[in-house]
Amino acid sequence: MKLPFALQAGIRSKILLMVILPVVTISIILTWYFISVRRADLADNLQRFGETTAEYLATASELAIFADDAQSLALIAREPAQRTQGLAFQHANHDVLIQFGDLANLDPDRWPQIEGDLHSWYTDGDYWYFRAPVMLQADAITDYAEPPQAVDEPIGWVVVTLSSAELNRADRQNVLVGVLLSSLITLVVSIIAWFFSRQIYRPVRELTNIVETMESGDLSVHARVAGEREIQILARVINRMASSLRETNINLQLEVSEATQGLRAALTDLEQRNNDLLVTRDELETAMGAKDQFLARMSHELRTPLTTIIGFTRRLDHTALSAEQAEYCHAIHHSSVLLLSVINDILDFSRMQHTGIELEIVEFNLVEELEDVVSMHAHTAYDKSIELILLVDSDVPDRFSGDPVRLKQIANNLLANAVKFTDEGEVVVRVALQQEEYAPGDDEKSLDTPGVDASTGNSDVLALHITVADSGIGIAAEDIEKLFKPFGQADTSINRRFGGSGLGLVICQQLVELMGGSIAIDSDHGQGTRVSIGLELPVVGEAHDESSIPSRSDSVAIIDANLWSRRALRSQLTHWTRQVFAVAEVGDLVKLIDQRGLNFAVIIVSLSPSARGGALLLETLSTIRVHHSGPIMVLACLEDASLAIPDEVLHHYAPVWSLSKPVRRKNLMDWLKAIEQGDMRELERGENTTQFSGELASHGSLKGVSVLIAEDNRFNQNLLKALLEIEGALVGLADNGVEAIERFQQSDCSLVLMDAHMPLVDGIEATRQILTLAEELEREVTVIGLTADTTENESERMKQAGALEVLYKPIDEEALVKTLCEYSGSVYRSRKSGGIASAETSRAALKRELIKEVGNLRRALDTGQIGESREIFHQLLGLSGLYGMVELRQRVIELRESLILQNDSLAKEQLSAVEALVHRITE
Ligand code: ADP
Repeated sequence: MKLPFALQAGIRSKILLMVILPVVTISIILTWYFISVRRADLADNLQRFGETTAEYLATASELAIFADDAQSLALIAREPAQRTQGLAFQHANHDVLIQFGDLANLDPDRWPQIEGDLHSWYTDGDYWYFRAPVMLQADAITDYAEPPQAVDEPIGWVVVTLSSAELNRADRQNVLVGVLLSSLITLVVSIIAWFFSRQIYRPVRELTNIVETMESGDLSVHARVAGEREIQILARVINRMASSLRETNINLQLEVSEATQGLRAALTDLEQRNNDLLVTRDELETAMGAKDQFLARMSHELRTPLTTIIGFTRRLDHTALSAEQAEYCHAIHHSSVLLLSVINDILDFSRMQHTGIELEIVEFNLVEELEDVVSMHAHTAYDKSIELILLVDSDVPDRFSGDPVRLKQIANNLLANAVKFTDEGEVVVRVALQQEEYAPGDDEKSLDTPGVDASTGNSDVLALHITVADSGIGIAAEDIEKLFKPFGQADTSINRRFGGSGLGLVICQQLVELMGGSIAIDSDHGQGTRVSIGLELPVVGEAHDESSIPSRSDSVAIIDANLWSRRALRSQLTHWTRQVFAVAEVGDLVKLIDQRGLNFAVIIVSLSPSARGGALLLETLSTIRVHHSGPIMVLACLEDASLAIPDEVLHHYAPVWSLSKPVRRKNLMDWLKAIEQGDMRELERGENTTQFSGELASHGSLKGVSVLIAEDNRFNQNLLKALLEIEGALVGLADNGVEAIERFQQSDCSLVLMDAHMPLVDGIEATRQILTLAEELEREVTVIGLTADTTENESERMKQAGALEVLYKPIDEEALVKTLCEYSGSVYRSRKSGGIASAETSRAALKRELIKEVGNLRRALDTGQIGESREIFHQLLGLSGLYGMVELRQRVIELRESLILQNDSLAKEQLSAVEALVHRITE
């Protein structure tokens, strides 16, 4: 808000204003009062004069008017006429008898009427008008013979007019005098006020200047102590204030300079720390890089020999072994698989911690992927006589989009745990659209009624509930939360018994969360365990393959003692027909046939893992045959299901076929189709056996396909060669990148299996060059990478170089053949046991290899071809690592280091030591 000027003005103006304003106001009021009183007096005098003159003239003119004597009237009026504006004598009727001067603007109607008084007056501002009655007084008339009688009525009127001019003049004079007087007073008062205000203002101004100077930062000023007491006090206070401010200022400056110094020191320190941190970060990054490299290396070093061990033990297992040898072989295989799973867990976990995992999004068949996983564990489960069941609800669509590899990894982990920690009962993998309570050993009568229609509904994204439930040892409630912590195991004694890294569930949890799902464990000690996964996956295409949409009205019966196995089979069969009857034992089936008179196209007898044929099966078959002459299918928990039924039984109860459990949906459908069409030949040839043996037979899936294997590890080379030759492929070999490129040029191979790590030219560069060559030669070729690097770095680089697929070591043989079939346009055929791969794995071969490599090394060093020795070192390290020759490996590493450091004399000694050691080993 803006202040009025006076308030904004300085103290001096305020003092002046305070003094002058009241004085001027009072003098104006007084002047005004004086003028008013004077004017009232003058007006009073004028009025009185007018009235007196009119009265006098009325009295004096009584007789003259009575006598109409104008002369006398003129005489009477002579003197008053000079002092008035005008006067007149009137008859009683107001006719003018005689008039003197000017009566101005007399208006007879304006005379005011006063009760009982005939005198009156009024003014129009410029003039004053007075009137008096002329009354006849009887005693005054003596001269007349008959004097007139006194009457109350006037005999005439005297009118007098006075001018206001005189009054106004006097008024103006009064005003002038008043104004002059008040101006004079104001002037005098102003001079006095100005003088006094100066007395007060000057020292205040001085002090103000001093404070302003202080404010501008100059604290050296000093106020003069003089003048009034209050001013002196003020000056002293200001001086004290200035000195204390000076002191404070000095202290402040000291503190600021101290703080600045501190700050500078802190900044220097911070800078130093920052530098240290940068150094640490760089070191850390280097360390991380080294760690990644270490991981890749570890992965390569560990998985490569493990691949060989697992591959060859599998083969060895199928050669003619004594019982003892077979047991040793089994032990080696089992331990290697366990070791591989631990290595995989640790590497996976480490990868998740540091580099993260990127999910793939591809189309896949959920049922087939889960069937793969279940098959892998069937052997172990059936060995323990526990049922292994995959129950996919019939309303769950087949094809989804997502990461099947990771989904399989999760399912595999959970299933491995379930089988591992269950000694009796069952393990059920359940896939449903709704979550459903599961309790092992549940029974449900409503199951034994015909199945519901398979849903063909299709929505974009479906919520899937995958549950792996077992009837095993369970987990104590207090241990459950430990399980999702890295390396957490419910009971360490369990770990000692079963093995494991304690990372499986953590990895599962992280993968599930990466897929946007959730995982939960529900268990109690001794009550079995139930791990549930909730996932949302986009559905692709039709809900079910066309071939699996039921169109038939034939009835199929299932006899299975296990509720969940029954349920799983029935769910599978709803893709075949709508009429599925599932019963627990043959007696129930007989009742059904008797009561309802049902006819079945096929009766499926599903055996429990503990009942591998025998008397019960014979009894069941003979009971069935009483009521049913059609096909019977026996599902047995055996690698070779035909072993459950002796040939003579087969002939006796024919037609009877056998299939291995767990039976794949497609397999079951194919069989039912073949039975329906009466054409069993095709299937009988090879499909009646299990998927869990995982062993190879010469299927010729890759018959005539020319494959180049570029792999520097000779043993792996042999393994891959054997594997592909069994499938009928024509195999070419290359030990390094350069050779791979040459062989590709020379041969007509359409598939190249390329290891990422190779001497001379690594697999990534070799892939690039081969693909460029292929383009120039207008040849079609597919490169499939092989890597043991879990960090996905290598795989990514391989793909960037042009590899269409990258497989991880240890190579899953089935996946390898499947992939090769896919890219060669061949038809993949499931494997069957019996094939024995020939491979040069003997100790003699190893010895030959070692001697050759050490000889090469000697030659390379003697001729100074250090560059070539790199490849030889690689081979020697691979061999020594593969066969656990720790000492040799160490010596080779030391020798390599000496060469790098160019310590020739030491290198020579070390080379001799290596030669001696090899000599000793190969003796
Ligand atoms: P591991 O590789 O050691 O099996 P996991 O993370 O898969 O690691 O499992 C951790 C622990 O959880 C196991 O050692 C076991 O104590 C417990 N566990 C997991 N699954 C089951 C199960 N189905 N039944 C009983 N215990 C289980």
